[in-house]
Amino acid sequence: MKFGGTSVADAERIKRAAGRIVSSVEAGNRVVAVLSARGKTTDQLVAMAQEVSDRPDPREMDMLLSTGERISCALAAMVIKDLGHDAISLTGSQAGILTDTSHTRARILEVRADRILAALDAGKVVLVAGFQGVSTAQDVTTLGRGGSDTTAVALFFFFFSEFCEIYTDVAGVFSADPRLVPRARKLPVVSFDEMLEMSASGAGVLQLRSVEYARNHGVRIHCRSSFDDAPGTFVVGEDETMERPLVTAVTHSTDEARITLTDLPDTPGVAGTVLTALAAAEVNVDMIIQNEPHEEGGRADMSFTVPRADTRAAVDALEVLKAELGIGGIHTDGEMGKVSLVGAGMRSHPGVAAKAFSVLGAAGVNIRMISTSPIKISCVVAESDVERAVQGWHAAFELDADAILPEDVAGDHRPIVPPEPS
Ligand code: ADP
Ligand code: ASP
Ligand code: MG
Repeated sequence: MKFGGTSVADAERIKRAAGRIVSSVEAGNRVVAVLSARGKTTDQLVAMAQEVSDRPDPREMDMLLSTGERISCALAAMVIKDLGHDAISLTGSQAGILTDTSHTRARILEVRADRILAALDAGKVVLVAGFQGVSTAQDVTTLGRGGSDTTAVALFFFFFSEFCEIYTDVAGVFSADPRLVPRARKLPVVSFDEMLEMSASGAGVLQLRSVEYARNHGVRIHCRSSFDDAPGTFVVGEDETMERPLVTAVTHSTDEARITLTDLPDTPGVAGTVLTALAAAEVNVDMIIQNEPHEEGGRADMSFTVPRADTRAAVDALEVLKAELGIGGIHTDGEMGKVSLVGAGMRSHPGVAAKAFSVLGAAGVNIRMISTSPIKISCVVAESDVERAVQGWHAAFELDADAILPEDVAGDHRPIVPPEPS
């Protein structure tokens, strides 16, 4: 079981999560629970680091960030003991989550679960601090924001149960972020591929890495509310979903920045050099656009988006190249967002893009950059336009909870009935 930050935010919620764990134990299960840091704890820790340093050292950042999850686990263990069951809290390191050495975005290499197994054998409930591990160099690492989902999926794979149950503060995965679109509907079933695109484009309900891990290892996820017993969303293989609706969900992110390089020489190798420099600075580049000069010997422009937090690292890396490559100018635009339409049904239906762009045009939203994959269309827009764009698409593609799709009536495009959790 995994409980997210909102689900353990205060004393009452910790008690509720602990109660849920104890019910599972009393139903005869051996339980390993992964907890996130309480409420906004991780944000507060990040802010603390920024108060004292412009560029916090990554190793020390991980020492700091990993504390939030320890608090949740220790408190939950206390409650479970009070409820009459034995329990033990473990840090990621104690739980045997072995990672590589990329601080603040480490990857899990291996789970060495002897200590968890021994505790389970001794009749204890095991509470594992999410989002963290220990590197091959024996330092504490963290797995990237939202990483407790990945801890849960990795442990699940190790222990192998039917569904990896991820408890969160919403009823499941929705057709859009319910904070932006109150009429969004809960999706009963989503395929790994769709969930990958959704997580990659801003649906923070499941961390991207956890979905990658789940898909690669065939771990089926049941993402559900920690506040009630209703079934949530099942994230399963494509073969377990039926024919999909055209558009499944609208996702967004608001923490993007755009960087534009002007007057680049139009010679082979320039783009490679630019992106190699960004990769060396560990900057993840998302959307890339380059135009060709009109005439022979002309200069080219190139734009790309990066996470806003990485803008400075990106610009620093590019400044180094400026003279070497003869880059005319480096311009940054920090107030960008991205909206995406995701749906496996798009593969076989032309015309989704045309409709998507028309809807944004009618809503007066200026599209700054576009990229597509077989099951996704993404547009970079001004951050202030994100909400309007999401709501416009959600309504236009009939995703609202009360919209009746023609397919519903025909009955042949519906997602399958969710598999029964056993
Ligand atoms: P946890 O602390 O449980 O890990 P998160 O805050 O990481 O919770 O994820 C849950 C939040 O994800 C929801 O409160 C919701 O605002 C947001 N969210 C964004 N997109 C979606 C979506 N498509 N479906 C459901 N929730 C979404
Ligand atoms: N506490 C970490 C974060 O906020 C990890 C998590 O909640 O999954 O990113
Ligand atoms: Mg989360």
